[in-house]
This record gives sequence, C-alpha cells and structure tokens, in this order.
Amino acid sequence: MSVYLYNTRTRRKDEFQPLNPPLVTMYCCGPTVYNYAHIGNLRTYIFEDLLVNVLKLAGYKVKHVMNVTDVGHLTSDGDEGEDKMRVAAEREKKGVMEIARMYEDAFFRHTAELGLARPTVVCRATEHIQDMIDFIKDLEDKGFAYISNGNVYFDTAKFPKYGSLSGQNREDLKHGARTEQDMNKRNPSDFVLWFTSSKFENQILQWDSPWGRGYPGWHIECSAMSTKYLGERIDIHCGGIDHIPVHHENEIAQSEAHLGHDWVNFWVHMEFLNNKAGKMSKSKGGFLTLDTLKEKGWQPVHYKYFCLTSHYRSSAIFSDEAMDAAKKAYENLSDYMAAFKAEAEGKTLSPEESADLQKLQTEFDGYLFDDLKTPLALSYMWSVVKDNGKSAAERLAFLLHVDGVLHLFLKDVAPKKKEEVAVTPEIAALLEQRREARAARDWAKSDEIRDKLAALGVGVKDLPNKQIELIKL
Ligand code: AMP
Ligand code: ZN
Repeated sequence: MSVYLYNTRTRRKDEFQPLNPPLVTMYCCGPTVYNYAHIGNLRTYIFEDLLVNVLKLAGYKVKHVMNVTDVGHLTSDGDEGEDKMRVAAEREKKGVMEIARMYEDAFFRHTAELGLARPTVVCRATEHIQDMIDFIKDLEDKGFAYISNGNVYFDTAKFPKYGSLSGQNREDLKHGARTEQDMNKRNPSDFVLWFTSSKFENQILQWDSPWGRGYPGWHIECSAMSTKYLGERIDIHCGGIDHIPVHHENEIAQSEAHLGHDWVNFWVHMEFLNNKAGKMSKSKGGFLTLDTLKEKGWQPVHYKYFCLTSHYRSSAIFSDEAMDAAKKAYENLSDYMAAFKAEAEGKTLSPEESADLQKLQTEFDGYLFDDLKTPLALSYMWSVVKDNGKSAAERLAFLLHVDGVLHLFLKDVAPKKKEEVAVTPEIAALLEQRREARAARDWAKSDEIRDKLAALGVGVKDLPNKQIELIKL
C-alpha cells in the first residue's frame, strides 16, 4: 500500500516515493536545549516518531536524524536577541554546557516516556562546528556569502528561489520585523552564517574560524549536519509550521546554494499545540512540560493519546478537560487489553480469524498511510475493540498490531486478574454433587448442577486430571 503525505513544497498530498528504496532519509529539527521541551514541542516530536513508524510499517527502512541545538539560537527567529544558553546558565547558576546536557537528557527522558524511539542519529551542533565552517567557506567561495561588520551573511538576492517554500516574495520577508533591523544586512531576508560580532556581548561558546573568533548562526547547523549524515538529497524533512517561513527557507537557500541542486523532496510540517490563551512558546515562558502534566495526575501516554486524537496538520487546543477525556479513553482501552489478554490466554486464531485480522489491520493501516489520519485510525480501532462478535484472541492480536505502530504501551498491560470465587457451603455441596454425577457419567445431572452454579455466579471449567477451575461469572 502506498503512503501519502502532505508536502509543503508542492502544497498537496503526494504519493511518497523515496529516492533509494527501501531506505528513507529523514531529518527533523531537534530541540534547543536551554530549557525543557514544552508539550507543544513534544506534539511535533510525537508525530515525527509516528511518521517513522508508519514508514516502517509500509516496509521502508528509515534513517532518522535529529540535531540538538546547544549553541546560540537567538531569541527571535531572526539574528537579533540574546544568547539563550547564556541567559539560562545565569538563571540557573550553571555552566552553559552543563545546562545543555541537562536539558538534552530531560528531552530524551520525556520522549522515552512518550514511547518515542531515539532517532538513528542525534547530532549536537557544538560537535559539528568544523562541518559548519567548511559549509560556510564553500558558500563564500561560490559567491553566496558576504562579510559585513565582522559577521558572515547569506546573500538571499543570489538565490532566486528564496521564499518558495512559504510562497513569499523575498522582498516581503522582513526577518527583523519583531526586533530592530540588523543594519549590516544587504537585504532584509539575509541571515547570519557566522557571527564574530553581535549585539550581545559575552557569548560564552566561541570557536576560531577563517572570519575570526565567533560562533555559527542557527540555521547552518541543520544544513551542515543533514548533509553529513544523510547525503546530498533528503527524502523527508520535518519540523513545526513556525519553521516554514524563516528557518526552513534559510536551510533550503544554504543547502541548495552549496549543493547546486534540489535538496529535500518532502517537507512535512506539524501544526501547533495552543492553549486557551494562544500559542505555547518556549521563549515566552509559562509553558507546560511533561513533568507538569504528571504532577497534575496525567501520565505521558495520556498526553500521547490526546495528541493522536487530532490530525497533525490541524492545530490542537490543550485543556484540562481534553486531557481528562484522553486519560479516561486510554484507561478504558487498557482495560479492554487486560481483559482480552486474560480471555485469550492459550488460544490461537482459527484460519477464518487470521484472514479477518488481516483485513482489520489493512483497514487500520490505510488510515495512517493516508497522511497519518490518526483520528480515523483511532475511531476504527474502537469499532474493532467493541465488536463482541469477534473473539478476544482476534481483538488482542489487532490491538498488538495497533500498538506496534502507535506505541501506546498496550503490550505491557498486565492480563486482568481472575477474580477469586468465594466457595460457600452451598457451592461446595453442588460441586461435590457434580463430581459424583460425572463419576457416574450422569451428564444430564452434571449439566443441571452446572446451571445451578451459574445461577449463583460460578462457572466451572474442567481441567485435565479431573481438576476444575472456578470462574466468577
Ligand atoms: P524549538 O526547541 O523551539 O526549536 O522547537 C522544537 C520543535 O517544536 C520545532 O519543530 C518547532 O517547530 C516545534 N514547536 C514549537 N512550538 C510548538 C507548539 N506550540 N506546538 C507544536 N510544535 C511546536
Ligand atoms: Zn533545522
């Protein structure tokens, strides 16, 4: 079955074809580690991880690369502002690298709690400075860069395609709009490749370069590291929608100027998680983390379930009520799982059930292959779970398949414990009579007694060696 994905580049849902099947190369812009990832960031990573799982389900092998921004990355998407790492280090009275590692660890702890796999390659910006310098040097040699007041800038006027991803004219793009315009730029959309001087002083992390001691602009890390780990052409590049107009335009300009050809085939962007007050943002502060949710009594998997109830290309609104509903739904689902596990123990599927299961799985997969339609996949899942016409063993097998893609920790749910039957003298007497009837091969009497026991809420299962198991009905 083919996978279809909405491609920001073509502005339509396209059939996905990798350049070198069965390999899929996928790059995702990773976290800035000067603070915890907020649950909005995590929504984006949840869908990126899901995309990896869906591609694997379709038979592909995925090389998933994610960067960790542990240097620079300024307050605005443009080139002005404060060094966020330094601000965090001062706030928490720690060294910048200590801050970076602490938040990176927290990030991967959170993503693991959400059942997200660690990407194939996780690359830190600070460990790839030479790759970035080489990349910038090449842009300079090819005439795409200029030096102004000590900084190296990308000259967007030299890249006619600039703005095509977001459908904007280069002239309309004013990246310094939210802050003061950088007077060193030739064009408003130009951006810094390498800083040796900037508005803020005391940048702690600095490296020697052909242009003097300084540090890279934010955008260059993704171009340099993606090329290093995934080669000259990439099948899929992901990120939140906020990255389309600046960060991803800049990545395209740098990479295509450097490579001399088209770079990314599919651009896949995740819509935002908002709260009732509006957009959740890291730099604004006051955001929710996974730990905050846990303090409020919700587990990470409840948040993941909540995310899957909306499509990744629609924005979602976070609320306590929506989280409570997700928690309830998930608990209900894991109750079903526990009951199916108990009931299906030791049972195998008949050939008819196996054939039917195939159909169920294909229909479920179809919703995910169609641009990750998780709300439809979940509602289909529920229709199967609640179908009492299907055996527990078949529904269990189906849910294990669902869990193999959505990673909702269902496979870890313990089977429902069988309730102990309290054997009253009346029940004991009936059991003894049943034993005698069976010994006398009086099946009619044995059945009659079984009915009397059932009326008392007790089921009897005959085991080998004349043993019996009592079941609470
Ligand atoms: P950052 O650490 O700020 O660079 O963001 C990490 C990822 O989360 C990026 O792909 C962003 O586009 C994405 N992102 C940021 N804010 C939100 C939000 N409120 N909802 C969903 N994704 C977001
Ligand atoms: Zn990036």
